[in-house]
Amino acid sequence: MASVELKNIDKHYAGYHALRDINLAIGDGEFAVMVGPSGCGKSTLLKTIAGLESISSGQLLIGNRNVTKEEPGDRGIAMVFQSYALYPHMTVAENMGFGLRMAKRPKGEVDAAVARAAAILRLEKQLDKKPRQLSGGQRQRVAIGRAITRSPDVFLFDEPLSNLDAALRTQMRVELSTLHAQLGATMIYVTHDQVEAMTMASRIVVLNKGRIEQVGAPLVLYNNPVNLFVAGFLGAPRMNFVEGTVSTVDGRGAGIQFANGTSLFFDDLVDPVERGSRVTVGIRPEKLKVNDTQSGTTFAADVRLIEYLGRETIVYADGGTLATSGSDSGTGAFTVQISDIVPFRIGAPVMLGFDMRDAYLFSADGRTVSAPKPIASI
Ligand code: ADP
Repeated sequence: MASVELKNIDKHYAGYHALRDINLAIGDGEFAVMVGPSGCGKSTLLKTIAGLESISSGQLLIGNRNVTKEEPGDRGIAMVFQSYALYPHMTVAENMGFGLRMAKRPKGEVDAAVARAAAILRLEKQLDKKPRQLSGGQRQRVAIGRAITRSPDVFLFDEPLSNLDAALRTQMRVELSTLHAQLGATMIYVTHDQVEAMTMASRIVVLNKGRIEQVGAPLVLYNNPVNLFVAGFLGAPRMNFVEGTVSTVDGRGAGIQFANGTSLFFDDLVDPVERGSRVTVGIRPEKLKVNDTQSGTTFAADVRLIEYLGRETIVYADGGTLATSGSDSGTGAFTVQISDIVPFRIGAPVMLGFDMRDAYLFSADGRTVSAPKPIASI
């Protein structure tokens, strides 16, 4: 086990700046999940840690050792790929012991390591089978087993669950979290799936366009995103955004006006906003209430679509009075998440409401200037 430290890392491909000044310290035994949209640089970052891609500038330390120029095999890492990358002609046992055999370890040691990994991953009955005889989930477990047998200091996972169906992905998420708790190993995991990030990470690293946007515990990022990008990326359904204009600035507060003249007031902003600037108000779908007269701020909308998911109802509504035009942020369309089965009729008028204490305000350049109180850590 070891810590991993990335210092001022930049990566240029021919003509493309893929990683920009990455600084990150991952603690010994942490489960760090790098998440971001396709093309943001997550795989590149993982490959530079693995040594499969060179670093253009900066330093990489594993266990306080500078490994920037070291070969992948000398870094003490093991990588698990989305494609499993198993040898089809080898049995499960041979696949799992491959790294140790290549390292010319004695047969007894290889067999013991394979048996231990097979027990952890419940693969004891599959050891003599070939990969083609296994299910997708079992194949991925063999790939993880191959990493475990090498007792690496750091496990690197590159979208390992993306080829699995939804039910298996959920099961494997639980298995990976259990494995992490069991091994206590440092794990760095790359995914585009924010649910995997939220459920498995001890800390999430949100990447966008080659830069780190925010690093923190899942619930801290969910509740207190530093900017509009992180707010919109974490959470499904996504946070509702409405654009407005700063109409008044009063001490540490600001009034925000929408296209139809309705306005909201945010007090105690962490950073001032400029009068006349375009800002964005955000509210999570689970914080929007339907026809609730207790809600502090209400506005009229029409039901456009309803999804009954059994344990919850998702209502898509076109927001009449808060709607603005000419924005690309889906303005005017609101998503409401209700943790109950509630009947609605398409086209019916509804009153949507929320408590200002649940609302976010983002400045013209996307920084969070007002957010709900930080949650107590759990
Ligand atoms: P992600 O894993 O977040 O989807 P990648 O790390 O694979 O993103 O890629 C980040 C960016 O770098 C993308 O725009 C991609 O096109 C570019 N890129 C990746 N590999 C290469 C390469 N070998 N040569 C040039 N550009 C690359």
